[in-house]
Amino acid sequence: MTQSFPQDHKNQDLVSIARDAGKPYESVNLPIWRASSVLFTNVADMRAEVAATAAGERRAANYATAGTPTTFALADAVAELEAGPHPARTALLPSGLSAIATVLQAFLSPGDHLLMGDSVYGPARLFAQGMLARFGIETTFYDPAIGAGIGDLLRPNTRMIYLESPGSYTFEIPDVPAICSLARERGILTAIDNAWASPVLARPFDWGVDISVLPLTKYWSGHADVLMGAAVVREALWPQLHQAVRQQGLCVGSDDAWLILRGMRTLKVRMQAHESNGLVLARWLEKRPEVARVLHPALPSHPQHARWKRDFSGASGLFSFELHAASADQLSALCDHRRHFRLGFSWGGFESLIMPANLTGLRTAGPWQGGPLVRIHAGLDDPEALISDLEDGFAAMAAAKS
Ligand SMILES: *Cc1c(COP(=O)(O)O)cnc(C)c1O
Repeated sequence: MTQSFPQDHKNQDLVSIARDAGKPYESVNLPIWRASSVLFTNVADMRAEVAATAAGERRAANYATAGTPTTFALADAVAELEAGPHPARTALLPSGLSAIATVLQAFLSPGDHLLMGDSVYGPARLFAQGMLARFGIETTFYDPAIGAGIGDLLRPNTRMIYLESPGSYTFEIPDVPAICSLARERGILTAIDNAWASPVLARPFDWGVDISVLPLTKYWSGHADVLMGAAVVREALWPQLHQAVRQQGLCVGSDDAWLILRGMRTLKVRMQAHESNGLVLARWLEKRPEVARVLHPALPSHPQHARWKRDFSGASGLFSFELHAASADQLSALCDHRRHFRLGFSWGGFESLIMPANLTGLRTAGPWQGGPLVRIHAGLDDPEALISDLEDGFAAMAAAKS
């Protein structure tokens, strides 16, 4: 016997049912608005929203690629925390690297000259040497501990100075306020990667920068489970950034934005724990005979410690240490013998990480002269447990082939 399905059953309206939220419902957190189409009440409303979206007005969206209430909430929070009280706007991008690439594309044109710190995030350097070079933009890499001396590197076509403080892996601190005041006099844009400190510890717009990029993947998320970036610009620069983002169809999902909002609530308390755990490890490492130097800006031994004290209100959990000497096998043994640390790229989550730093191809202004480097991210683990890991690692290193 064949079964027949009722064709005209009144409850088969799959399209219209279950779309009414009912009475207003308030919860502690915003809901996640998942959307592609955005609906309008009438044609006049539709036309007004299209014009507002094209103009980049705050929270305007004729289509969800321009944003949803969830992504708008995050973008506004990032602008306020990173730049406030300076008027600023934020674009959310799929990753931190995408935020860097978008900023460089938005503000540089063929024939322009870019100055970039020698210890910027490696993939930012590769973007400048690859895509930007292909499009006729020349990059000069400068000493990442530079100050007003950067004036000597300026050319008539220098359009942007790109900074990172402290630098990746080697943690140099440039004199950002001095560089920004010089750039402003000459009409040159300044952009900074504020990954290490987050706005809890550094206020780049107070230093005078025009643009900052944040890998929200790192401390903002805090849980190693979501990828996102943000580009924050002074209000006057927004139209140009907005067009670059919009013309490339760059956007983020509301689920991911919601996860960053959730992580952000505990950013401040997590940063305090990362700082104190990191300093326990850094001070312990400084006393080890195997260690030539600890590269941590909060240690008085750091060459730009005075700048760190002036510019930052604290330290995060990321730093490196240099070994006197170690074979490849010894370096691997040090990083492989661990119970609490994990081995991996990225950082800024609750977990502690250790890895050998490989600077091959990543320094051109001044090649790395020191010994083997190890990078640590002090997570929220008990620092005594992390120290016992490092003790085991050093023992394994001594036993390995030199
Ligand atoms: C990780 C990192 C980025 C890139 O962020 P992703 O979201 O992983 O693309 C940018 N800058 C610095 C300094 C970083 O450490």
